[in-house]
Amino acid sequence: MIVDVQGRKFRNLRLSLTAACNYACTYCVPDGKKLQAASSELSADEMVRAVQLLVEGAGIEKLRITGGEPLLSDKFDDVIVGVMGLNLSDVALTTNGQLLPRKVEVIKRSGLRRINISLDTLDPNAFRSIARSGDLATVLHGIELMLDAGLKVKINMVPMRTVNMDQVMPMLDWCMDRNVELRFIELMNMGHLKHNAVYQRDFVGMDDLLRLVGAKYEYSRVDADYDSTSVRYEIANKGSFGIIANESEPFCSSCTRLRLSSNGYIYGCLSSTSRHAMHEVLQLPKHLALNAIQSILRGALADKQPVAFTGEVTVMKFIGG
Ligand code: SAM
Repeated sequence: MIVDVQGRKFRNLRLSLTAACNYACTYCVPDGKKLQAASSELSADEMVRAVQLLVEGAGIEKLRITGGEPLLSDKFDDVIVGVMGLNLSDVALTTNGQLLPRKVEVIKRSGLRRINISLDTLDPNAFRSIARSGDLATVLHGIELMLDAGLKVKINMVPMRTVNMDQVMPMLDWCMDRNVELRFIELMNMGHLKHNAVYQRDFVGMDDLLRLVGAKYEYSRVDADYDSTSVRYEIANKGSFGIIANESEPFCSSCTRLRLSSNGYIYGCLSSTSRHAMHEVLQLPKHLALNAIQSILRGALADKQPVAFTGEVTVMKFIGG
């Protein structure tokens, strides 16, 4: 297994099924244009094969299917069923939830147990102005369907100073009432935000979030996995929440994440534009592919930041959020 001087190795893979998205969230997509897939995306078979090679060749144990919007991809059904048959200890899905009502049956059939749904507000008007598309009621219905199907649900919310701070406590209460863990994601200095004053204006750090929660509840910090991106807290007899504190408490030094984009490139770090093509490797017989993959992995591991996320012009939806 490849390990770097900081003792980091790959354990978690994020697979982007497509760069296309049915939303155009203001903080992710600069120009409001949605539905842009990459020019040549891997097939479902190639994606499942790539995951299998990375399980065997990189030591990947956990997989998150993401995008773009994964439920928008016509590869979704084949990929989810395919990867559930691989030797992974954990498979999860990140989605904006808009298409969940249509995908309940295949999700149940696949045996998927965990899902993260991105939702930044419970206010229908604010929802439309952030996502610039979609319908809040459909997402809420999708969440209920996942809970009814027995999946463990987490909600991802990006708090933004001038946009949805009034939603932090309503979202937390709404989630805790349903036994759902809310995870606040600190706004990341990526894509069009990298050179934009909006980032400084809207960034909300961990201290501010904890102050807000602390005004209503007593909370205590609980243990998380060594390579977890989320700092977790418990509110006695109510529930738990997490903060993905990429700025306030950077986790690069224990990062085990690897990304495969929908068009077949490996990325070792969200904070680097460096990418490594998998196309040729995917054409090789397995023993040669496992060999060839090693230099790709060494390159990807070298792309990681030593301590903290420094920000990049890379767009989350292209390389897999
Ligand atoms: N479409 C899926 C979804 O909405 O969950 C998966 C892809 S989306 C890019 C994954 C996550 O990235 C979402 O939770 C979204 O809020 C988050 N995200 C995108 N850009 C971000 C940024 N600049 N800072 C923080 N989170 C961001």
